[in-house]
Amino acid sequence: MKLVQEDENQYILEIELTTNCNYRCYYCTPNLYAGKTQLDYKDILWYVDKLIENDNTKIYNIRLLGGEPTFHPQIDIILEELYNRKIVNVHFVTNGSRPVTWWENAQKFLAGCIFSIHQQYAKPQHIINVCNVFDDHKPLEILAMMDPNNWDPALNLATELYTGLKDKNNCRIVKKIIDDRNNITDGIYTDEQKKFLLNWNDSFPRKRKHNRSKISSTLFLKEGKDKIKYRIMDAKLTNKDVFKGWLCNAGIDGSIIDAKGNVHKSACFRHKKGMGNIKIKNVNFPSTGIICDKNKCNCLTDLQFRKFNDSFVELPHLSLTEEERAELYQIQSSLNYIAYDKPKGVHDGNYISKNPKLPSWVYDKFKNIIKYSKSMLFLKNKWTTMHTDLNRKSSLTIPLNIVTPTNFYETYTSQQPIAKLFHNGSTFLQNNEIIHQVANPSENWRYFFQINFREPFIESKKWMTVN
Ligand code: SF4
Ligand code: SF4
Repeated sequence: MKLVQEDENQYILEIELTTNCNYRCYYCTPNLYAGKTQLDYKDILWYVDKLIENDNTKIYNIRLLGGEPTFHPQIDIILEELYNRKIVNVHFVTNGSRPVTWWENAQKFLAGCIFSIHQQYAKPQHIINVCNVFDDHKPLEILAMMDPNNWDPALNLATELYTGLKDKNNCRIVKKIIDDRNNITDGIYTDEQKKFLLNWNDSFPRKRKHNRSKISSTLFLKEGKDKIKYRIMDAKLTNKDVFKGWLCNAGIDGSIIDAKGNVHKSACFRHKKGMGNIKIKNVNFPSTGIICDKNKCNCLTDLQFRKFNDSFVELPHLSLTEEERAELYQIQSSLNYIAYDKPKGVHDGNYISKNPKLPSWVYDKFKNIIKYSKSMLFLKNKWTTMHTDLNRKSSLTIPLNIVTPTNFYETYTSQQPIAKLFHNGSTFLQNNEIIHQVANPSENWRYFFQINFREPFIESKKWMTVN
């Protein structure tokens, strides 16, 4: 299963411009409204240019937040400079409190905007006026903070905004679920409130569809050919925001800069060693994702990174060049293979050649993961019986010749393959909790180079995160 974006070419960059804010919402923390740190625009531009230099095929959706980002003293130059970078779309997450005249100018540089509505301070008519200055094609989201302890006022506010903006087709009212990330310890919804939130569109119907891709991704949960729309807020209400053990593309599909200039792969990684710091102009881009070890994926930005719970993970950075593949194929052709016997002594169709003499570039290329490996070998087969690999927990499989896909099944009796390993030259990390069958003895031999590990990859953070 996968959680994917409709447009996988997007990179989400969240920038915490400042830790200061003009409001003091009771569920917020002083380090978000009374802080003194803020970023310098030159450092931000350095990082954005680095991202573009690293990959200029992506579209960079930049989310400016805080504190209150619109009060950053260099905000005008930040907006103008980012706007000049053509593959960049910028939007705010803002309380929207700056005057309408300020927004009239700012909106020219924005691809859209997200307004957080906080009951304590909200002036609905002001927010309506601000929304009205935006061009009609720019998506606007009004996040109505649905505080379970102040339910009726929250609902009235959402209704007032919905009514005031009913003619604005690019604007929608979105429920914001209060969860453990906010400091409301008794913020648990009653069954009735939950039901209302899950049927939110009955009360606040969506208007004509507008393209929101420049401010947030449309997400899908995909399994085989099935694809269902993933609604983040509903997922939070129904515990579908738990990805423990999944491979998460945090750091690959996006990153987060905090107000001190530290670059993190995701909000959930803020307290760990990050990717670097933009103030000292030192940032490293990861080439693999991370295995999630969190009980919940809390942040709206984090939820937009792709996540995979597949039996295979493709690792393009470890794929072989044609020359390297040819060299390994040449080596294997001079080796002796022995039939690999299953523990009960029944041959499963695999032949192996263990601990071969390998060229030095192999050790160099895989140096970061070889130290966690159990063995390295060449493998050949043209058929296998169904089996699970009991002696290894996961493996890196590199096909050396191109033949038909290998099918993997969930159980011995299942008819439909749950995964196919395509021998297209890629390098795959394979979890061995699955059942394997190649069922055509008349096929040609297929050859692989394989590195075997002691731990299943979905549990083994340490060697998946090395680059
Ligand atoms: S507007 Fe946002 S940053 Fe400001 S106090 Fe409220 S929750 Fe915190
Ligand atoms: S909690 Fe962090 S690691 Fe886990 S899925 Fe969310 S972003 Fe990824």
